[in-house]
Amino acid sequence: MAVMAVPADGCAHITAVADVKQPKKRVCEECVHINGQWVHLRTCQECGVTLCCDNSPNRHATTHAHATKHPVIASAEPGERWLYCYPDDGFAEY
Ligand SMILES: [Zn+2]
Ligand SMILES: [Zn+2]
Ligand SMILES: [Zn+2]
Repeated sequence: MAVMAVPADGCAHITAVADVKQPKKRVCEECVHINGQWVHLRTCQECGVTLCCDNSPNRHATTHAHATKHPVIASAEPGERWLYCYPDDGFAEY
């Protein structure tokens, strides 16, 4: 799927996403190992891992982004079509 929206000025990360990676499975890949629970899921656009959101107790997506410097996540929720860039705090729908 091509990204149609142009994100906030100064973010080259979201515009560099040519095809939005979709979740392989609709689970947080970290929480399943620790028997954790999650609220929403996000998919890293750099490596494709699917992790839990900031409303979830373990916030694995944000931890992953900071630890790996992978900048962009996409919502992995059905019906949600948006990307978020951590370093630029940028947001775009597609
Ligand atoms: Zn960016
Ligand atoms: Zn998690
Ligand atoms: Zn990643």
